[in-house]
Amino acid sequence: MDNEALDRMTMALAGASLTDEAQMGLLDTQPVIQILPDANVIKIGGQSFIDRGRAAVFPLIEEIVENLPRHKMIIGTGAGTRARHAYSVGLDLGVPTGVLSVLGFFVSIQNAKMIHYLLAKHGIPSVEPAQFAQLPLYLAERQAVVSVGMPPYAYWQPNPEIGRIPPHRTDAGCYLISEVLGARSMIYVKDEDGLYTADPKKDRNAKFIPKITVEELERLDLSDVVLEHTVFQLMRNAKNRRSVQVINGLNRGNLTRALNGEHVGTIITA
Ligand code: ADP
Ligand code: MG
Repeated sequence: MDNEALDRMTMALAGASLTDEAQMGLLDTQPVIQILPDANVIKIGGQSFIDRGRAAVFPLIEEIVENLPRHKMIIGTGAGTRARHAYSVGLDLGVPTGVLSVLGFFVSIQNAKMIHYLLAKHGIPSVEPAQFAQLPLYLAERQAVVSVGMPPYAYWQPNPEIGRIPPHRTDAGCYLISEVLGARSMIYVKDEDGLYTADPKKDRNAKFIPKITVEELERLDLSDVVLEHTVFQLMRNAKNRRSVQVINGLNRGNLTRALNGEHVGTIITA
């Protein structure tokens, strides 16, 4: 055999414990492939967007359709208010995090179904996790696909540090899709212009932050943020997707600008 690097890796893996940090670091020498580098992952907010009904959703659907000739899109859905209701009943009944995760998954599916049927006449399919292998074909044929946003962790969802709500929800689920596929972008469509120094719905003096790194964000230690904290933890170890963009989807044109690579909203980088 003349592939020294491969030999070395095989030997190291066969000989080492997979928890030996120094050894594992040495194995990380080859760049990670980008499986779908042309695909943009777009998360449509649940509470912040889909729950607003047709006034918010219909113009966004139109904008997605307008962009089909130019951009490939994997459209993930949030869960929103119905998930919060299910979580509150589940919490009252003493249900553990892994089961709350199952509940949230199905609400995200409900939203994916609705977005899917709004796009169906344009030939856009929707997928659940078992169908992810078909993503390349659907994107090649139809340019877009609707996907459940919640990661299918179910019982394997880790407990959060505080409380019991699943820490990996739809922001994290969509982020991981963009990371593993080496997608072109991760765009969060919400109802605010991006990240502020505080929740703009509660604090009128909240200041807009157009650009920030995960480290700077953590140093600010804001009491509330626009994305799940888990996304920032995941971004620290990103191999592919080192930035995410949060835009206000209520303003017509923002999604198009983000897809075209313009700086609209907030860009958060690893
Ligand atoms: P989604 O529906 O996509 O899950 P969420 O409703 O969970 O979205 O989160 C988005 C909301 O987060 C915004 O509508 C905003 O009111 C709130 N929010 C909290 N803190 C911030 C912040 N620091 N900057 C911007 N928005 C914030
Ligand atoms: Mg949310």
